[in-house]
Amino acid sequence: MKKTLYPGSFDPITYGHMDITQQALNIFDKVIIAISVNPKKNSGLFTFEERANLIKKIYENDDRIEVIQMKETKATVDLALNNGCNTLIRGLRNITDFAEEVNLSEVNLLISDNKVHTVAFFANPGKTTISSTNVKVLFNLGKDISKFVHPVVEDAIKNKLKE
Ligand code: ADP
Repeated sequence: MKKTLYPGSFDPITYGHMDITQQALNIFDKVIIAISVNPKKNSGLFTFEERANLIKKIYENDDRIEVIQMKETKATVDLALNNGCNTLIRGLRNITDFAEEVNLSEVNLLISDNKVHTVAFFANPGKTTISSTNVKVLFNLGKDISKFVHPVVEDAIKNKLKE
């Protein structure tokens, strides 16, 4: 069975992430979505558990998707290898993503002794403007986010911001 690891913050998961997951499933039998902390981003809206539960709920009828939480400080490549994956999935929306991902993929190849390669997919038309950050900003402005996130996520954001 061909497994791959898709790491990211997923705070929250968007239709952009789901599109990349779908593209990965055209090639791999199983996608392990690994929720991590991105040190470059501000503290999140959802906790690890909440992010994981949202993804599990969306894919509850699809056993090709597994969700894991990356709580301890550990290199993503080690997590991949420990889970039987020698590839990482990343998504490319634009030249900024490309620049970051090229660098990251090279580092990951180096620190894994050439064991873990990155497979990048291009965002499909209509998905390039979606980001978790945009979703949070637009929701706070009272705008419709249903084109960006699954209804499960939309409900969770509404409930969260009522708290
Ligand atoms: P990170 O904090 O590691 O950037 P994200 O949750 O923001 O994690 O994204 C994880 C991966 O998914 C990254 O490779 C990112 O470029 C990609 N991604 C996010 N949104 C989209 C989108 N709309 N279309 C394609 N790829 C995306």
